[in-house]
Amino acid sequence: MKTSNFPQIFRNIDGEAFRNCQICEIDLFEPRQMYVIERAIKNYLDIGGNQVLFEHAVCLSCAQNEQENLSEESRESLRLYFQAMRPKEDEFSGDFNQCLITQKSLENIEEYQVFGMGFGSEMLEMNGFPFALSGEIMEEIAEQLSKETRDYLDGYMTDKFGVPPEFESPLRPVLL
Ligand SMILES: [Zn+2]
Repeated sequence: MKTSNFPQIFRNIDGEAFRNCQICEIDLFEPRQMYVIERAIKNYLDIGGNQVLFEHAVCLSCAQNEQENLSEESRESLRLYFQAMRPKEDEFSGDFNQCLITQKSLENIEEYQVFGMGFGSEMLEMNGFPFALSGEIMEEIAEQLSKETRDYLDGYMTDKFGVPPEFESPLRPVLL
């Protein structure tokens, strides 16, 4: 298992590493917890600059609990989607500055999401993490989800991040 420090893109909007689980608020560093990080970012390609649409770290036990709220059907179609789309291990560049699937550079993409896994203060490089997905791929992923799962995740966005339900973006937490 290789570890490294968190690159900027996996730090929070203040440039700091995530310290607490978004759901149970447990300290992720002391004692060390395994957790997932998701950040969704909108680039303003025409005027420059970007905006964080949402970001969080969730400990693995909360992530597993939340998974149970996704319908079985959604989980299965996500699994099949990734199985089909994911580059083979030897073709995967490990570069999270580009979309895992389209391989477009993140700086030229209007909306994207990054996914990381941490253990305490260290970023883990394992099981294909870290990686990034562009908005167009997130759109395809949304199509794999049942309506009830999409509604559930949109409700989560509203509760945790104050994102209104009419928020028109394919970006939503999927690793929960
Ligand atoms: Zn938690």
